Amino acid sequence: MATPPKKLIIAIDGPVGSGKSTLARHVAEILGYVYVDTGAMYRALALKVLRHKLSPKDADAHALVDLAQDTRIDLRAEEAGQRVFLDGEDVTREIRSPEVSQAASKIAVNPGVRKVLVAEQRRAGQQGGVVMEGRDIGSVVFPDAQLKIFLTASPEVRAERRWREHEQKGDAIDLQKTLEEIRERDRRDLERSTSPLVRARDAVVVDSTAMEPEEVARLVVMLANGNATAQRAH
Ligand code: C5P
Repeated sequence: MATPPKKLIIAIDGPVGSGKSTLARHVAEILGYVYVDTGAMYRALALKVLRHKLSPKDADAHALVDLAQDTRIDLRAEEAGQRVFLDGEDVTREIRSPEVSQAASKIAVNPGVRKVLVAEQRRAGQQGGVVMEGRDIGSVVFPDAQLKIFLTASPEVRAERRWREHEQKGDAIDLQKTLEEIRERDRRDLERSTSPLVRARDAVVVDSTAMEPEEVARLVVMLANGNATAQRAH
């Protein structure tokens, strides 16, 4: 009887709007894997920080870590897509606002906060059969992931994608402002001292600027299948 293919950990990292979520969702669906959007975890915690009127900046470092330890974030896969629960409340839509995006990027600088969320992410992915996306999955969360993808696209294309997503939901946002916000979040992700956005040495770099989402997904599934075969042969 044929051995079933090994359930891999697939890490997808990249900057804001590079198409990580769409890619990770597609690939997880095709392979029958679990999809974990780690950005949603930073966003959910950021929403709680804003509601508690705490500053997302470093000044409140300890308060942020205490809050992170006292927070339950659940990602649930449903027919219509992933839903995000913060202490039992469905916050799927609320965490996508530009205000929460900025706050998430600010709390993500805090090493203590990252430690709490990274531990959660490792628990969620340790069994394999998971596609996890974020900024530090291949470099920090799962440095031994069997397949690492670093997804990029030009800032202009990324801003346009984000703008279109909001427009489709009926939220009017300004394209130029979106581009500026993306640049600001990129800078924070790249410059922070703990787990900055870096390409893991063994990651496959995919530039999605001129690619359709389906093309990117096909490529990654092909790489995953090749990888699973290689693992089985060991
Ligand atoms: O991916 P998304 O834009 O939803 O992530 C929200 C913010 O969370 C990002 O701007 C980034 O600063 C932070 N983040 C992170 N590490 C991750 C995932 C997200 O620092 N693994």
